[in-house]
Amino acid sequence: MTESLPEQIRSGILASPGDFLHMVAGVLDERADLFVLVDKSHPLTRDFEPEDLVSLKAYSLSLFWGDVPIRKAIIPAVVELARAAKKSGITLVFSSGYRSFEYQKQVYAREVKNYGQEMADLESARPGASQHQLGTAIDFGSITDAFAQTPAGKWLAAHAWEYGFSLSYPRGFEKITGYRYESWHFRYITKAGTLLQRTYFGDIQQYMLKFLNENRASLESRRQRSPRRSLYNWARKNTRPNRKSMPAPPISMILCRSESLSS
Ligand SMILES: [Zn+2]
Repeated sequence: MTESLPEQIRSGILASPGDFLHMVAGVLDERADLFVLVDKSHPLTRDFEPEDLVSLKAYSLSLFWGDVPIRKAIIPAVVELARAAKKSGITLVFSSGYRSFEYQKQVYAREVKNYGQEMADLESARPGASQHQLGTAIDFGSITDAFAQTPAGKWLAAHAWEYGFSLSYPRGFEKITGYRYESWHFRYITKAGTLLQRTYFGDIQQYMLKFLNENRASLESRRQRSPRRSLYNWARKNTRPNRKSMPAPPISMILCRSESLSS
């Protein structure tokens, strides 16, 4: 199950499978459509469009220009993020949200025309391969490299995860994500998601979403298997906040579960 992951991440998971599965359970409790893997190898279809798009205009947030459509399902998180930034004296400017397949087609074509195909593929997504089509990805501020050094850029880099927002394309992982570092592009993956990403996936969204994409069915069925008390059930009961009184799990359980995790 963990074999396609980098060794460091894999060994971290296998070192504490109970805690890991408990944290994964938190993610499985969230809406599955917030964790859909979208990248160059996993494009969305032409007609994929979220059903609950709303305009950010209605929520007294600062928009860069025009309109920024976003899924209604994530509005509470967006508002919470903006309020938290405000408390620190930062005004987040929302620049881009949902983009349709057709719109992305135009954006990509323009990039190819201006910079050539190779550059366009690193900087811009081909239609279907953009997280913006999900309606849960947001570009902030200037959408340029300068954003990283602005107060908003620094605040988001440090705190966005606390509100369930994850930097999709971090520096140094261009080969993994397929895109260059974008300090302005965040995707909402819930607080359970950002916690799992930080704790077990080296804070790399791509690794986590790929793992969930490949293993969701088996993780779900593991969760629903109730007749035998699995390590999952044990972990769920025993890894809640107060860990002091936590009994040790039967060693056979750990061994058995670690083996199945590595397959
Ligand atoms: Zn973006």
